[in-house]
Amino acid sequence: MAKSKKKINIIPKAANLKKGSKGKEVEKLKKYLAKFGYLNPGQLEYEGLEFPPEPEDSPVKSAASFENVTSKSKTRFDDATAEALSNFQKFNGLEATGVLDKASLELMNQKRCGFPDNPAMGALGSIDIAEFNAHSNKWTKTNLTYGFLNYSPDLTAAKTKQAVEQAFAMWAAETPLSFKMINNANSADIRIRFVTGNHGDGSSFDGAGGVLAHAFYPPPNSGALAGDAHFDDAETWTINVPPGTGTDLVTVAAHEFGHSLGLRHSSVTGALMAPYYGGPKRYLHSDDIAGIKHQYGGYSIAHAPWIHGTDINIEYPDRLKAIRRAGFYTYLYGNAGTKNWFHFAIPSPVIVDGNRLRIARAMLRCRTHSSKAIIKHVHIYDGYSRIASHNDINLSGNQWFVKFGVAHKPYIYWGLGISIGVEFKTGTTNERRMDFVSAGVDLIK
Ligand SMILES: [Zn+2]
Ligand SMILES: [Zn+2]
Repeated sequence: MAKSKKKINIIPKAANLKKGSKGKEVEKLKKYLAKFGYLNPGQLEYEGLEFPPEPEDSPVKSAASFENVTSKSKTRFDDATAEALSNFQKFNGLEATGVLDKASLELMNQKRCGFPDNPAMGALGSIDIAEFNAHSNKWTKTNLTYGFLNYSPDLTAAKTKQAVEQAFAMWAAETPLSFKMINNANSADIRIRFVTGNHGDGSSFDGAGGVLAHAFYPPPNSGALAGDAHFDDAETWTINVPPGTGTDLVTVAAHEFGHSLGLRHSSVTGALMAPYYGGPKRYLHSDDIAGIKHQYGGYSIAHAPWIHGTDINIEYPDRLKAIRRAGFYTYLYGNAGTKNWFHFAIPSPVIVDGNRLRIARAMLRCRTHSSKAIIKHVHIYDGYSRIASHNDINLSGNQWFVKFGVAHKPYIYWGLGISIGVEFKTGTTNERRMDFVSAGVDLIK
């Protein structure tokens, strides 16, 4: 958390504002709806303005143009406000009442992304209540670079790099894209900054809470800022799960990079690309996967070795109550209150037909019988080098095909391994059961 001077507050606090309401709270509501792409200032009653401002296709939005609206219309809850509020409610899965009810007010007071939900809203103010929503811009190359223009004082550089790499790996798993960090951040495709308040791109941050971050679409959109991601350093950033009073950098970074790659906000509850932050979520929803695949497609796999669940190696066998094998499954019953590591050594060819291969992702087929048995971490190794860390993912239940990307998709040299960090909480023996069917990797040329 860096020091921020003034909190810019556009979040309304008064419930039951409706058509006919007037005053400062209405003005805040209208600013809020305009900032996030629901209310086109061009729709308002203009006095002394010849043309309504153009909606812009970037987080640099219409807050400034809103200032051109006369003070009388700014504070009046009119038809356009009711329609904008209904669209906000529809997009976010609330009842579309057009009244600032309790549920809407609560949502507006939650932390969120600064990117508008409907950045391309036309003059008529219609909004698509779409699932994943892809912008027409996308990167025309697959090997993207990223760099840090600065860091937050909340986290060490090493922890920040780890969080960001984990976030990129989520998108790398599903696309032909690879993401490599370079030290000369200025020449990187995606430049990462931690900033507060007004930071020179026309879209000021608002102090702690409210807007957490924003990002820019791929080029040619947004000129030199294309692809960049900015994080509000008035927030307290953390990589701990649970995050306490802090905000999870992995989750917010993965969301912002979705915009950097050309995704808009999704109206699907539970999608990483939904606009509101609901705590740590370090994996993609099927809606996010559909969105990013629509943009970039899949990729061709040169080789895909798998191994059966019976080949699992257990680091601390004494922390298990029982191990059973059935067919190709291994059933593991952990002792309550224990942590353990399970390892799969994947028999991986590193050179095929004279070509050294690269790793795109690791995959698991497994299940846990309740939330008392949790897959916490998945680490991927080439020989003794750890090449990807998916930390604090907290997966339970059926995971019949779960993928863990490697952000930079490196060449492999010494053979691949997958290490799985698990936790068994207090519960019945059957609740503490975890089954492994198989593990594999996708290798590319
Ligand atoms: Zn966003
Ligand atoms: Zn910015």
